[in-house]
Amino acid sequence: MIDANARILLIYTGGTIGMVENPLTGILESFDFEHLNNHFPEIEMFKFQIDHVVFDPVIDSSEIRPDHWRKMVHIIQDNYDNYDGFVILHGTDTMAYTASALSFMIENLSKPIVLTGAQLPIGKLRTDAKENLITALEIAADKDMEGNPIVPEVSIFFQNYLMRGNRTTKVNAENFNAFRSFNYPALARSGINIWYDRKAILTPDYNKTERFHYHLNTHIATLKLFPGINSDMVAAVLGIKGVRAVILETYGTGNAPMAPWFLELIKDAVKRGILVVNKTQCPIGSVDMYRYETGLELLKTGVISGFDATMETLITKLMFLIGHNYDNEDIKIRMRVPLAGEITHPEERNNERM
Ligand code: ASP
Repeated sequence: MIDANARILLIYTGGTIGMVENPLTGILESFDFEHLNNHFPEIEMFKFQIDHVVFDPVIDSSEIRPDHWRKMVHIIQDNYDNYDGFVILHGTDTMAYTASALSFMIENLSKPIVLTGAQLPIGKLRTDAKENLITALEIAADKDMEGNPIVPEVSIFFQNYLMRGNRTTKVNAENFNAFRSFNYPALARSGINIWYDRKAILTPDYNKTERFHYHLNTHIATLKLFPGINSDMVAAVLGIKGVRAVILETYGTGNAPMAPWFLELIKDAVKRGILVVNKTQCPIGSVDMYRYETGLELLKTGVISGFDATMETLITKLMFLIGHNYDNEDIKIRMRVPLAGEITHPEERNNERM
C-alpha cells in the first residue's frame, strides 16, 4: 500500500541516468539534477512527497570511492528521522559495491534504501530510466497493513526486479537487465503490480536503534587463480606492503592447486596475519572446502570461506570489519555470520534445494 503521507529522499549521485551526449565527441557526460528533473515531469504525479539531495559534482560511478559511501551514509543519517525511505540514483558500474557497502555501514536499518539507475540516459526516447525510477520510488514508499515499510533493507531495483543489494552483481553492459542476484531470490518483481516475496525480505528488530558506521580499511587485494599461475605472481600479491586481506578467486566449490609452493605461500601469508578469503569463480553456488581434497588443503592453511557471497560483498565486508579494528579471530567469526543477509551457509542452501 503506497503511503500518501510518505516522504522519500532522492539522492542523486550521477551515472548514465542523468547524462547527456556531448554533440562533438558523442561521449556521455554527467549532467546536473535540473536536466534529470526536466525530463521527468512524472515526479509531479506522485501522491507522496519527494525531496532531493544532489552530489556536487555528480559522478560517473567508476569514480566512486569509500568517501562517497561515507557521504551517502551521512546524508541518510542526517535525514533518517524525517523520511520514510531513500532512493539513490547511481551509475550501474559500481552500484553493487555501493549497495553492499551501505548494507554494512548502516546497522539495524529499518527503512528502505533502494538504489537504481539506467542503461540509457533519461533524455533518450527508449530510456529505461523512468520505469526504474518510478518503481524504485514506489517501493521505497510502500508499507504493510501495520504501517511498516515492506522492504526495510538496502536493495537494487532494475528492470522489473528488486534484489538484495549485497547479493547483486552487474552482469550486462548492453541489455536493460543489467543486474543479477545469483544466489538469493528476488525480493520483488514488478509487472502490472509489484509482487513482493515477503519470506525473502529481512525483518528488522524495531526495538533496536540504527547505527551508522564510517570506518573502512581499503588494504584489500584480489588474486584470481588460473591454470599456469606461477609462484612469482602469487607471492607478489600476498607480499603487497600493508595488505590486510587477500580474496582468492578459486575454482568450483573453492578448490585450488595442491602444489607445495602454492600452499606454502598461503600458509606463510596467514601466519603473517593476512586474512585469505576463498571466493569461487563461479557466480552461482557456494564455497564448500570440505568437498574435495583440493579445497580441504586450503582450509588447513587457515583460509576463510567466502560461502556464496559476491565479490562486491566480500570486498566491502572486509573493508568494514578491518576498518573497525576487530582482531583476525573475530573477523573470521564475523565472516561466517550474515550481517545483512549477504551469505547463506552450504548446509542451508542444500536444505532450501530439497
Ligand atoms: N558509467 C556509468 C556509471 O556507472 C554507467 C551507468 O550508469 O550505467 O556511472
